[in-house]
Amino acid sequence: MRDFVLERPQSIPEALDILKKAGGRAMVKSGGTDLIVWLHRSLVNPDCVIDLTKIEQLKGIGLSNGRIEIKALATLNEVASNPAVGEKLPALFQACMAHSDPLIRNRATVVGNVCSAVPSGDVIAPLLCYGAMVEITGPSGDRTLRIGDFITGPKKTALAADEIVTAIKIALPEGKSAGCYIKISRREALDIAQAAVCCTAFESVTREFRISFCAVSPRPVRATEAERLLNGATKMDDGIVEAAAKLAIEAVDPITDVRASREYRLAMIEELTRRAIKSCVEKLEAGGPS
Ligand SMILES: Cc1cc2nc3c(=O)[nH]c(=O)nc-3n(C[C@H](O)[C@H](O)[C@H](O)COP(=O)(O)OP(=O)(O)OC[C@H]3O[C@@H](n4cnc5c(N)ncnc54)[C@H](O)[C@@H]3O)c2cc1C
Repeated sequence: MRDFVLERPQSIPEALDILKKAGGRAMVKSGGTDLIVWLHRSLVNPDCVIDLTKIEQLKGIGLSNGRIEIKALATLNEVASNPAVGEKLPALFQACMAHSDPLIRNRATVVGNVCSAVPSGDVIAPLLCYGAMVEITGPSGDRTLRIGDFITGPKKTALAADEIVTAIKIALPEGKSAGCYIKISRREALDIAQAAVCCTAFESVTREFRISFCAVSPRPVRATEAERLLNGATKMDDGIVEAAAKLAIEAVDPITDVRASREYRLAMIEELTRRAIKSCVEKLEAGGPS
């Protein structure tokens, strides 16, 4: 590991000032559960690490006007134990609980998971299904991006070198809804996904299904053809679910790596999509949100 300067700013303007002065040679740290590993392995070599954990404005979870604001330092455990997440965003709750183990979840942040932008990031798929927006601040002011536009490739985001993410905002679903995140990995804890599927369903005048994935595509994708089939169905029977599960495979492009082969991942996506859709339909029919 190369030497670096550690900065601990107390405010967002101070953090942005340090970032600007570092001219692209600094990285910010939230929980550090990815960054410290990368530093140890010399996968990244910044001159300066900016630890955000002293910045009060970046802490906590807010709720107003039907929107939840997950601030940059909110940990996986804080998010999972928030009542609004448990009640209205069950797929995000399940993804948080599928992440690592209780110790890591006390340190790792939801925003850090998104900024790492690794294809196996657990919270990314539910955030995509729930239409999450990424709040960014930098020297030229604030901007907001959809999560699907924020992550541009494996470990790549649309964030400029002098910007930080301050929060993720999600409009809480109104009315009946259901959500489900199913992950498979080689063991139950402390392992990243071989594959995972997220399905959400929202019911107002019509039903709207959304399906996304983890660890099977270079950047976040939704199974739009499968969603179209489900959304247009007048009756939800096994044939429709089967057809949607097959269409889901066409949306992904998994690789073979140490965790699983491409073929295994494709087979799992079909099976997990089938289970996730059925789970959402059952929950809706039982009277969601759940
Ligand atoms: C033992 C272990 C088990 C793990 N298991 C899982 C798992 O099951 N599932 C999973 O998805 N991940 C897992 N991870 C990976 C990691 O915990 C997550 O990606 C975590 O959510 C990252 O959050 P963090 O706060 O620790 O990010 P950090 O390590 O602090 O940062 C990660 C990246 O995001 C950037 N960043 C962080 N915050 C901001 C910000 N506010 N603005 C701009 N950029 C920012 C950093 O510069 C860095 O590039 C595991 C890691 C370990 C060590």
